[in-house]
Parts: sequence; C-alpha cells; structure tokens
Amino acid sequence: MKYSYLSHLECPKCSSIYSAEEVQQLCQCGSPLLAKYRLDEVKTNIKREDLQRREKSLWRYHELLPVHTIENVITLGEGYTPLVTVPKIGAKYGIDDLYIKDEGIIPTGSFKARGAAVGVSKAKELGVKTLAMPTNGNAGGAWSLYSAKAGIESFIVMPKEAPAITRVEVHISGSHLYLINGLISDAGKVVAHLVKEKGFYDVSTLKEPYRIEGKKTMGYEIAEQMDWKLPDVILYPTGGGVGIIGIYKALLELKELGWINEEKLPRLVAVQAEGCAPIVKAWEEGKMESEFWENSETNAFGINVPKAIGDFLVLQAIRETGGCAISVSEESIKNSQQEVASLEGNFICPEGAATFAAAKILRENNWIKPNETVVCLNTGQGIKYPESFEVESAVLEKGEAIIL
Ligand SMILES: *Cc1c(COP(=O)(O)O)cnc(C)c1O
Ligand SMILES: [Zn+2]
Repeated sequence: MKYSYLSHLECPKCSSIYSAEEVQQLCQCGSPLLAKYRLDEVKTNIKREDLQRREKSLWRYHELLPVHTIENVITLGEGYTPLVTVPKIGAKYGIDDLYIKDEGIIPTGSFKARGAAVGVSKAKELGVKTLAMPTNGNAGGAWSLYSAKAGIESFIVMPKEAPAITRVEVHISGSHLYLINGLISDAGKVVAHLVKEKGFYDVSTLKEPYRIEGKKTMGYEIAEQMDWKLPDVILYPTGGGVGIIGIYKALLELKELGWINEEKLPRLVAVQAEGCAPIVKAWEEGKMESEFWENSETNAFGINVPKAIGDFLVLQAIRETGGCAISVSEESIKNSQQEVASLEGNFICPEGAATFAAAKILRENNWIKPNETVVCLNTGQGIKYPESFEVESAVLEKGEAIIL
C-alpha cells in the first residue's frame, strides 16, 4: 500500500492544476496552491480504526500527507498533542464543555513544528538544497531546526523585535539569521529579493503548498480525539491563517472520506488582536479579501500579520462554516493567559490566550451557547516569551518574601 495518496496541486482561485512531483510556489494567478489526494483510494484502503495502532504523531495520517516515502520523513515527534477539558475556565466563562488543544507540548514549543516537519520533509523529497523564509519568530525557529535535521541550508529573516528565544533557535541550528527593522511584511520583501537573486526555495507562508498540510493535522486530531464527533466551535489565533485554512481543509477531507458524518462542521472562529485585525475588518465589512493593516502592533507576535496572502481562504472557511472573526484587546489576552495558568496549569502563549479571551466575549454575547462544545487552540508554549512579562511588579523582582 502507498505511503501517501498525494495526487496533484490545485489552485483554489482559478482551478489550474500543477504537478506535485516538482517544486512549485504560487499559482500563476498569484493564489496559494492546495494539495489534492486520491481520497477515493484512501477510502477503499484505509479505515479510521486503522489509525488506532499507529504512532502518536502527525505522521499517523501519512496517507493524507504529501511525503511519498518514509525515508524522507524528518520528524522530531510532532503532533498528537493533548486535547483536554479546562473545566474551571469553562465554569468561569460559562461554557460547560470547553477544551484546550495544547500545541505548547510539541517540539520547538509552537505548532509551527507541524508545518515545518511536513514542509521540510517534502522539500527534502523534492531535492531542495536551500530555503528562505520571513517569520515572526516561531516559524523561523521550527524551520531552521527541521532544516538542520534534513541537511537543508536555511535563510531566516525576522523582525528584530521577535521573541529572543526564536533568534537563538535559528542561530544554534546553524541557519543564517537576518534581522530587520520592520514587520514580517518587510521581512517578506527581503526574502523575495533573496529568492530572485539566488534561486532559493521560498517557504513564506502559503508560497509553498505543504506547510498547510502539516498544520491541517490539527483538524484530523481534534476529530479523532473526540471520537469523530466534532465540537460546535473551534477558535484559532489567526495571523497568516494557515492553521484555520488547514483545519477547514482537513474537515472537508474527512467528510469526503466518510470518517465524520456530521451535517454541520464546527463554526470556525478567526481570532485577532485589536492592534492587528485585518481579517476581522474584512469580515465585518463583508469583504472577500483584507486590506493591509497599517502600524500593526500586538504582544501576540505570531498573529502580527498585517496582510495575509491566504486571507480570502480564511474568510471563506469562516463563512462556509457559519463562523466569525473577532478581535480582542491586549489586556484581555493578558488576563486570559493568567486565568488559564492559575486555574488550569497551562502556561499558554499570548496567541493562544487570545482564543480564550474571544471565547469569553462570544459567550457573553451569546454567539456561543452555554451547552456547546468549544475548542480553544493554544498554539505555543508561554515559556517561549519571557520578555512579554516585563518585571512589572515587585513580586517578579523580589519574590513575595525573603525567608531566612
Ligand atoms: C504563527 C503563529 C500563529 C498564527 O498562525 P497562522 O496559521 O499563520 O495564522 C499563532 N500562534 C503562534 C504562537 C504562532 O507562532
Ligand atoms: Zn490560480
């Protein structure tokens, strides 16, 4: 039996088809390309029960991932992260059935490991020698470490304000680290130049088609971990939007496979920070695409993306599932981060905390009903961001008391 049932790449905008057996970037129309599988064959050959015996990593879904041979799989053991209830937060927010999908528990400390594992493995399979990417930090950390394991040279360009630890990840893995004075969108321009001048493989968000394939496995896992019954709502901290587009893609694939039979898919919610909310603005204005968000600013660094190339796909995913887009304040992010840590023991990242802050608001205005099953996605480990907890109180500096 085949390891992967990858068939080809397809443009979601103009329906052009591309071979998946050579390096591809964007469609000629400028849209990202999506991987397509021979789902009818998967349906015949694999049953969802077959998964039970498999390793607890995202590679348990290898038939639905793009890597053809197991020798090309670059893995640090990523995926199959905990999906657990957070009853005390649920009680506080008035949501009976609230879950956290905790991506802090993953190599490199953020869910960017999923995209990197699958993206780098496929790059290796396609014979890529050198790759380049702009990043807000976590993706750079993950891609540089997975590239190191694959023996691929990497060039990582990030804003100098990015979390310090991610710079260390890039440096220690032997990648080339470029720091810029600006945003991820400016870093993107530097990468575009490198790609043009040197012919590197451009692994910017959605400019290669396989990072999303790694991230979509969050959707498979949520379905499998809930015994193939889906939650009512999934909240996702949205920057480039790869994860939310991926989760939607995964759910559609599962539906086609007949592994889920619910009529209604979960309502997908794109959560952004008030200081950078282009998707929310587009959603509220009923637009199909977002506009560049000027002077964006938020402590939730991973979602500081002023203009996402896949914005139209994010908007489509929330529209087609009856979801919504919502922005939250910096203060509410901090509060939720503290509430989740102090009530549940999960030290989540600010981006993940944004989904809890959003769940709270959506419950307050009754968009989420009290008896609905709700999943908040925590996309990273709080301990990756020590500098976001400036010493603002004497306790952090001196402790509560000095015991002699
Ligand atoms: C990159 C990142 C995000 C946003 O992910 P997208 O899929 O690009 O929207 C959210 N949280 C963290 C911690 C990130 O690093
Ligand atoms: Zn196209």
